[in-house]
Amino acid sequence: MAFEPFEKVALIGLGLIGSSLSHVIRRERLAKSISGHARSAATRDRAMELGLADTMHEHAADAVRDADLVVLCVPVGACGAVAAAIASTLKPGAIVTDVGSVKAAVIREVSPHMPDNVHFVPGHPIAGTEYSGPDSGFASLFENRWCILTPLSGTDDDATARLTAFWQACGSKVDVMEAEHHDRVLSITSHLPQLIAFNIVTTAADLEEVTQHEVIKYSAGGFRDFTRLAASDPTMWRDVYLNNKQAVLELLGRFSEDMSALQRAIRWGDGEMLFDTFTRARGIRQRIIEAGQDTDEPDFGRSGQPVAPADGKD
Ligand code: NAP
Repeated sequence: MAFEPFEKVALIGLGLIGSSLSHVIRRERLAKSISGHARSAATRDRAMELGLADTMHEHAADAVRDADLVVLCVPVGACGAVAAAIASTLKPGAIVTDVGSVKAAVIREVSPHMPDNVHFVPGHPIAGTEYSGPDSGFASLFENRWCILTPLSGTDDDATARLTAFWQACGSKVDVMEAEHHDRVLSITSHLPQLIAFNIVTTAADLEEVTQHEVIKYSAGGFRDFTRLAASDPTMWRDVYLNNKQAVLELLGRFSEDMSALQRAIRWGDGEMLFDTFTRARGIRQRIIEAGQDTDEPDFGRSGQPVAPADGKD
């Protein structure tokens, strides 16, 4: 069934996710007009130059006026303040959603500000790259990626259905789950791997017996793939860990135990344990490829050229 376009969508934050949404909304004609807000004048000006919005506003409260759909595309830690700022100008009946990588904390911060006559349906597109800012977006970012919605108990089913149809029109597949479950799942699929990447890259940079020159020169090994993750926006990731503290800390405990088991197997020459572990791990990679969530080309499809911002992250 054809998607019934929104009259007006407001994008609050025009970085990677906000600008990608703008591109796909324009391409698929999912809204008759787009209004936008970003914190800095530089981003607001750039968004206008790129045609990401029909109107850009210095104040988020002005951007959301008359909007049927409001999407908060700001770092998780900024969602509460933005919600407070827009509360009084939201249109009755509007759907308010977000794209934050953590859900329970966003719900805790945003819900208290939502008027009774709007529908708050939190969301998270599992799609991204290590790039940020208004120039980094592209229309196909959400294609064939999952978008998770975490409606609250009592959320209007029609609002959830309308938002589901919107994300599907953006090319995504949609799943609905509890916010706490989302945060546990994402702590293993996204937050822990990202933390390991930040850690390994800084550890390598700090090594005294290997010079930074050599770390960079011989980086075609696994290290290079970690540096791609580690290039991600520090503000976004700081907010993820501050807001998904419990799930990440629990998982780190488990991760450290498993790493100690591998350490022990290496120390005692337990090749069988290492082989079995690596065989299981390799099978997971195969399943991700079969699920269409990555390419099976060697070296992730790299051709020796700088990587285009096309491979999913987060
Ligand atoms: P981004 O490229 O860094 O863009 C963030 C945008 O938010 C910018 O336009 C920024 O404005 C604006 N902003 C920041 N703080 C603000 C504030 N206090 N008030 C108003 N605007 C503010 O970030 P992104 O990658 O699009 O991430 C946005 C959200 O998507 C985050 O919650 C993140 O967790 C989630 N997410 C990210 C990914 C990913 O891979 N990057 C994937 C899925 C979900 P200025 O440019 O003026 O500072």
